[in-house]
Amino acid sequence: MVHYIADSAVFIMGKDIDPGTIITVSSVVEELRSSEASLRFELAREGGTRVELPDPLIRKKVLEIAEGTRDVEELSSTDIDILSKALEYKDDAVLLTDDYAVQNVAHVLGIEVMPVAQKKIRDVLQWQKECTGCHRRFDKGDVCPVCGCTLKKRRKRKI
Ligand SMILES: [Zn+2]
Repeated sequence: MVHYIADSAVFIMGKDIDPGTIITVSSVVEELRSSEASLRFELAREGGTRVELPDPLIRKKVLEIAEGTRDVEELSSTDIDILSKALEYKDDAVLLTDDYAVQNVAHVLGIEVMPVAQKKIRDVLQWQKECTGCHRRFDKGDVCPVCGCTLKKRRKRKI
């Protein structure tokens, strides 16, 4: 049986998945601020969604990997929790997240990832423009608005 490991985006945006197959962590639930997201979570829970705590030993391993890929600075404590839970169920788990750093670490850990929103934001976020003069980074454009030098396309992050 496939377990869908859900980050907060699943409850914030909604995802058409059998709630009985969803597992999340308590820190995700604590992050849900809007009443809409809380309601979605309550409905999912009634439908069988499980809330679990991450295993401390697995969590430690995830932290080590994230430090190795330098994603650790962009990961919240909740992100580490959700990655730990996905790793725990790795062989039957699909991690539902749109967070780029989380996707990156999941990739290294061999965890299958499915985006929550339909389009893959990963493809959009993967590139940035860097100024050849002052090395400032921008999301788009051909000429630096600060110093006027040419912008070059650059990978935002290596996978
Ligand atoms: Zn510049």
